[in-house]
Amino acid sequence: MAGDFRILNLPEARFECTFGRGCDGVCCREGRPPVYPEERELIAANLTSLLPDLRSEARALVEREGFVSKRRKEGHPMLRVVRGWCVFFHQGCVLHRHGEREGDPFKYKPAACALFPITRDPSDGAWYVRQKGYRKEAWDLPCLEPGELAPPASASLQAEIALAERFTRQGSAALIAPPTASDP
Ligand code: SF4
Repeated sequence: MAGDFRILNLPEARFECTFGRGCDGVCCREGRPPVYPEERELIAANLTSLLPDLRSEARALVEREGFVSKRRKEGHPMLRVVRGWCVFFHQGCVLHRHGEREGDPFKYKPAACALFPITRDPSDGAWYVRQKGYRKEAWDLPCLEPGELAPPASASLQAEIALAERFTRQGSAALIAPPTASDP
């Protein structure tokens, strides 16, 4: 790992994503991650191939008004939501599936989604794993309150940890404010 890269609570954090095994993807419900300019460009350039996979109401909204709204977070526009779900949610994340088919599930996802549940505190720059009771975590998701049987986050989040480390090394724009309770 890079010398200055550390995830504060990684030794004690636990996490298990149970999407498709009891969780229906609640982290994408009302999900409005901020989208950086380079992420917007990449999604826009691939929108033609993404559109057929969207829910019909999401496709109609995106075709009519685009995939980001006027709402902003940290100065960046946020993904749109329709009928309570992110426009890119359709039995899972369409952006994730498209990237996965090309060998990189994070390729098209906004950084806030790709890193989840790892995030960075803008007040001190510290990386940490979102967990109930840690750093005033406000999002009431079951996966953020894992039981003793959940695997250590150091094992279950290897890809996300590697991504956070890469962002740190690159000085990426993804060194972002932590999402709010309604954002992934
Ligand atoms: S971009 Fe994907 S992971 Fe992020 S909120 Fe939308 S559907 Fe969920």
